[in-house]
Amino acid sequence: MTFAETGLQEILLKALAEAGYQEPTPVQAQAIPAALEGRDLLVSSQTGSGKTAAFMLPALDRLAAQPRRPFVPDARRASGKERPSSRPRLQPARPRMLVLAPTRELALQVTAATEKYGRHIRHLKAVAILGGMPYPKQTMLLARNPEILVATPGRLIDHMESGRIDFSELQMLVLDEADRMLDMGFIEDIEKIVAATPADRQTLLFSATLDGAVGRIAREITRDPLQISIAAAHTRHENIEQRLHFVDDLAHKNRLLDHLLRDANIDQALVFTATKREADTLSDRLNLAGFNAAPLHGDMHQGARNRTLNAMRRGHIRVLVATDVAARGIDVPTITHVFNYDLPKFAEDYVHRIGRTGRAGRDGLAISLVNHAEQFAVRKIERFTKQTIPVETVAGHEPVRRPAAKPAKPARAKGGWPTGETRKGAGRPQGKPAAHSQDKSRAYAAPRSPAGGDRRAPAGAKRSGAAQRRAG
Ligand code: AMP
Repeated sequence: MTFAETGLQEILLKALAEAGYQEPTPVQAQAIPAALEGRDLLVSSQTGSGKTAAFMLPALDRLAAQPRRPFVPDARRASGKERPSSRPRLQPARPRMLVLAPTRELALQVTAATEKYGRHIRHLKAVAILGGMPYPKQTMLLARNPEILVATPGRLIDHMESGRIDFSELQMLVLDEADRMLDMGFIEDIEKIVAATPADRQTLLFSATLDGAVGRIAREITRDPLQISIAAAHTRHENIEQRLHFVDDLAHKNRLLDHLLRDANIDQALVFTATKREADTLSDRLNLAGFNAAPLHGDMHQGARNRTLNAMRRGHIRVLVATDVAARGIDVPTITHVFNYDLPKFAEDYVHRIGRTGRAGRDGLAISLVNHAEQFAVRKIERFTKQTIPVETVAGHEPVRRPAAKPAKPARAKGGWPTGETRKGAGRPQGKPAAHSQDKSRAYAAPRSPAGGDRRAPAGAKRSGAAQRRAG
């Protein structure tokens, strides 16, 4: 299929040709024609699949055909009824399209993509409403009455409650990475926002998975949606080679990381740490060791985060040391390597992390540096991805310690419980292996306790409004 065959108008085809896009990705080929027909969509796909264009192109197609709206910053003053001395009262923004995204980085990326695809549509304004940015500037941007808002939920709610946004003219609502927004505890905000929009809007929901809570929300907010599933191949990340190195201790981990970072095949690398402080410390250490490194985490001001990401995109940084939330959605095609200096807290984050490499059809390499005591966490990841991560060693950097031997299975008495234990007192037999058949040599160790990092509520948990706003 070509982009022209999806039904998009010339003004967009021109921008796509200029962006170097030759043909639609699978998610675009399925989503664009259906969205152009006005259908609601439930799409399971990952970042990297081209999902941004899959929702933004049909939206731009629809908005480009609509007449330009008058800019009325102060209706009372325009009508001559207002006393000249009183302060002008701004009309609320009346967006026609709203994209909700879990993180600032993703929202900024969506805004940048909108500008790229919509560059030949003259009158169109897209504005990002994000946490961590000054309110007065956002209020000014809203006063320009943009057609498109791209927002993180917490900050958007703040503006709604202050009467600066009116969704009565909203035509299209997009939830990008909806599963992630629920993971981050934004469910109440999302419900509030959806309730403020017209029932006859078009709704497009994108998520890595459509199971569980996200599937329930998806069904509630869409009407007769077309379901598109692109996730499987991308979840497998078939273009990304995965490796695992065992390390004895922190010193060994640092030596091995330095050695691996000296690989001439690395264009740019993304190194994940569990905590913000560790991202700073490791970045400093790598700089001292002669690597061109920079940190990226949630304690940095948005301006500093943007500058770091831009420097990364321009190739001025070779090693970016980041935490999960800060790095979410990063799309830098020249990242050839992802390192898990610390393993992620959730298996799902592993998939998101390694997906930062192998972008735009390239190959990537994802390397995890793992302590023997973390084998349980590795198996959780392997079960989630349904892939085994091959264990590798580097000559001269082999671990001295060996994985603990698998505990011998206790003899079972009739009825399936170990001899000498009553069912009540025994619980689950010690050392009972979880279902995993790939690497029988691995020990069954307890997971390490996760070490902080960007604080996040577990899946499905709710957070206070204040906590959400801080994160959003
Ligand atoms: P996304 O999944 O929206 O984050 O997009 C991932 C990357 O693929 C971005 O760098 C896009 O610019 C790029 N991309 C999206 N659609 C296409 C396409 N049809 N052809 C080439 N690159 C694309």
